[in-house]
Amino acid sequence: MPVGKRFSLILFAGLCCALAQGAEAETVVHDIRIGIYNAKTRLVLDLSERPGFKIFALANPYRIVLDLPDINWRVPSGTARRKGGLIAGLRYGQFQPGNSRVVMDLSGPGTVGKSFIIPGTKGRGPRLVIDIRKATRQAFLTTLKAPRKAVAPRAKIPLQAKVKRSPLQKPLVVIDPGHGGIDPGAIGVGGSFEKHVTLGMAHQIRRAIMSLGRQRVLLTRSRDVFIPLRRRVAIARAAGADLFVSIHADSIANHRVRGGGIYTLSENSSDEETAALAAKENRSDVIAGVNLSGHDDEVASILIDLTQRETMNYSAHFASALVPELRQLIHMRRKPHRFAGFRVLKAPDVPSVLVELGYLSNRRDEKMLTSAKSRAAIATAIARAVNNYFKNPKP
Ligand SMILES: [Zn+2]
Repeated sequence: MPVGKRFSLILFAGLCCALAQGAEAETVVHDIRIGIYNAKTRLVLDLSERPGFKIFALANPYRIVLDLPDINWRVPSGTARRKGGLIAGLRYGQFQPGNSRVVMDLSGPGTVGKSFIIPGTKGRGPRLVIDIRKATRQAFLTTLKAPRKAVAPRAKIPLQAKVKRSPLQKPLVVIDPGHGGIDPGAIGVGGSFEKHVTLGMAHQIRRAIMSLGRQRVLLTRSRDVFIPLRRRVAIARAAGADLFVSIHADSIANHRVRGGGIYTLSENSSDEETAALAAKENRSDVIAGVNLSGHDDEVASILIDLTQRETMNYSAHFASALVPELRQLIHMRRKPHRFAGFRVLKAPDVPSVLVELGYLSNRRDEKMLTSAKSRAAIATAIARAVNNYFKNPKP
């Protein structure tokens, strides 16, 4: 095993253990409330103890982000969709180990007038209060500050070539469960969260591939934590992945729509619907409050060089191995393989596909994706497709 590879595996193993050992967070948030007043919108967090906190703003779209230490969220369900006044929507959850986050989407430019902690009294814990006032766009923009270093995502894609596998090693498949932590992904008609469905599925796929014994498997996340899109790509490259499979499930207003689809990277989207899907999946970082300023290269169109073109052929080849396997189990959409600019598929040298397993907004699809039995069957089908691909990977 080359030293670089061994090092990265140890690094990941170490990270997994550190995460698994992470004791339950001490600070509890019992409730998140929004109060609407004439001149301000007030956010109140009911806490078990006084936390350190940091507030910053992000533009395009207007957001205010509250960073906290690890939080044990015991907020009554339904709060995830709460809104009012200047707050058009809010999310909360883990952003990265040691750092929980609340992201408020604003309905227009707004600035934090005051933020303070009301000390706890007998029988009542402390409250964290944030007052947001309407502001001009100019005033909003002057409040923009980069978040402190400690919470900046470590998401840089290394510029050097990806780690190469020795011919003695089994190929490495990286399975990427979509969303996680503060980003729930799609929310199902029966209340399921995409981030849980994809994680459960990824663990099953890992088991299925391992049981065939021909490839190694690494998950980009093995628990409910947020990972920026660039970081997912970086994890695959740093580990020397031979194949990257991102797992997702969609949701749509029309609850009758169902079926799975397989997506690979392309400069041009196959159709408007697929372009919209890619835009939605690419919003994960915006949803989690990742500061994307300084990453303008990502917003620009994808530069596809020769390596990437070759990689795209391999990706399409894997997609064509996957379609017949999945088709035996799940209803597939018309034209099951489509193309668009998914950010998570941008490793220039790792064949990558994104699988939308179905629509959580459809009862039958949601039932299938939350059932242990059908998950296991789907995982076996994906493992078979992976195996067939490595038997004959040349497009
Ligand atoms: Zn998704």
